[in-house]
Amino acid sequence: MKIVVLGSPGVGKGTYTQDLVKIYNLVHISSGDLFRTNIKNNTELGMKAKEFIDKGELVPDEITIGMVKDKLAEISGQGFILDGFPRTVPQAEALTEVTDLDLVINFKADEEVIVARLSGRILCRKCGHIYHKINLPTKVEGICDLDSGEIYQRDDDKPEAVRKRLGDYFAQAAPLIAFYQEKNLLKEITVNEDYGQHKEVIQARIKEVLDQI
Ligand SMILES: [Zn+2]
Repeated sequence: MKIVVLGSPGVGKGTYTQDLVKIYNLVHISSGDLFRTNIKNNTELGMKAKEFIDKGELVPDEITIGMVKDKLAEISGQGFILDGFPRTVPQAEALTEVTDLDLVINFKADEEVIVARLSGRILCRKCGHIYHKINLPTKVEGICDLDSGEIYQRDDDKPEAVRKRLGDYFAQAAPLIAFYQEKNLLKEITVNEDYGQHKEVIQARIKEVLDQI
């Protein structure tokens, strides 16, 4: 099985991907890991990528696609889930030169659900312990359970900032989603439920999609 997973921040893509990897015995290829491994091992591509990263510039697509290509050669024919790549249509086009795909899964949730999830993050000013307004609240509102420190929210986690981040993501992802839709590879899975409480329902939904291929 050759799968690409897409999904907005806060949709829970990481969790579902880990499940897929375990259940279907797939190799998880994440673009973040590819960069880290190539840089750590001082590969030619890793060293090139590092030059751009050190300058604070975007790594050119041909470097990333080179890393994906090397990784696919290394796993020689095993099923995989590609996560974090492609992010753009040119990257998706480059990927078609390297491998064919069976499926692209786009994990979705309603915007309000994602905003509630991502804007729930709060933390202690004293010890930095992270809580969540809904999923992991402090015992007393506004006060840390551990050291009675003041609880606050980072500007990045405030609803307006989360909405802005989501808007940027959707603007970038829409052409990519359309690209895969046109190729008849796209399946969408909507997950508005909390994974902790509805694990089996969500896994069944994913299995249903995968069993079609
Ligand atoms: Zn604290």
